[in-house]
Amino acid sequence: MLKKLIKRLRRPNSTWKRFGNYCLNYISKSLRIPYVLGFPEAIFIEPTNLCNLKCPLCPAGSGNNKREKGMLALGNFKKIIDEIGGYIYDLVLANYGEPFINPQILDMLYYAQKKRISTRLITNALLIDNITAAGIVKSGLDRIVISLDGIDQEAYSSYRIGGQLSKVIEAINLIVEAKNEQKKSFPLVYVQFIITKYNEHQMEEARDLAKKLKVDRLIFKKLCDLNGFPSSLSYLERYLPSNQAYRAYKTEGGVISYNTDKLDINFCSMAWNYPAVNWDGSLYPCCFDYGNLDMGNVFEDGFKNVWNNRKFIRLRSKISKGKKELPYCGNCSINIYEDIIKEIN
Ligand code: SF4
Repeated sequence: MLKKLIKRLRRPNSTWKRFGNYCLNYISKSLRIPYVLGFPEAIFIEPTNLCNLKCPLCPAGSGNNKREKGMLALGNFKKIIDEIGGYIYDLVLANYGEPFINPQILDMLYYAQKKRISTRLITNALLIDNITAAGIVKSGLDRIVISLDGIDQEAYSSYRIGGQLSKVIEAINLIVEAKNEQKKSFPLVYVQFIITKYNEHQMEEARDLAKKLKVDRLIFKKLCDLNGFPSSLSYLERYLPSNQAYRAYKTEGGVISYNTDKLDINFCSMAWNYPAVNWDGSLYPCCFDYGNLDMGNVFEDGFKNVWNNRKFIRLRSKISKGKKELPYCGNCSINIYEDIIKEIN
């Protein structure tokens, strides 16, 4: 515990205000107090829930996300950051949708950087041209995670439906070049390779490509159905890899479960320390849920008021007694999901 606190205190963006909030948050989640003392330590903010791809196992691409479509306005982004930015350490600008569809995304990054919040962005990179790449580097973004699932167009677009691999590779090159030109070491560039039936034989070549592209990290991930826990694997069989070790699910006696030896601890701390604000201001306990656990609107009522309103307290209270009993949380992979391999070049 002491080690954890010292590590937190030493983070480059640590302030006494942030550290104090972290301690309060830590106490709340450790004691499972439904009324959270302080704000979360980190947050997801969704720039948009629109997407330019049709990835079948993502609610944005499959059309399963029934929330109204739209884009976060810069004014509303600033409103949240002004309220809680001094307390949080980390911000992920992503959720369900492609962040670069929002034309104000770079302004958001600049604003967060000005407030010394560590930022991460997850993107398919298809909209990144040389001007955007230069802007990304200038904005002070800390980490960019780019989806590159295949080393040829056929493998890549079998899951990233509508995408063009050459554009992703070009975007990575542009960011790396912009870093060199601006003599900056950030953002760190992470390439994420989700293993499917179409690319499982390309992992070795993906390693070579990542090295050639000079990215900072390559992450192999298991393919999960983000639309919800599958009731049958028949549709997923179109995409799941044949190597069982790379599969997120297994079937035993006709029952589907996560393919892991890890035990689910039947508790989840996301509702205490890592919630998600959607483009329309709706606050969710986490980034896993995309349409069920709406706790209220932070643009209308302010973050502080929604964060500890009756609905949110009731949800935390239920989670603290055991998440398995809850309809959505019960099948969530939060405690057992794991990247397969992380490699640093
Ligand atoms: S259990 Fe899963 S769905 Fe429920 S709050 Fe935690 S991360 Fe979200």
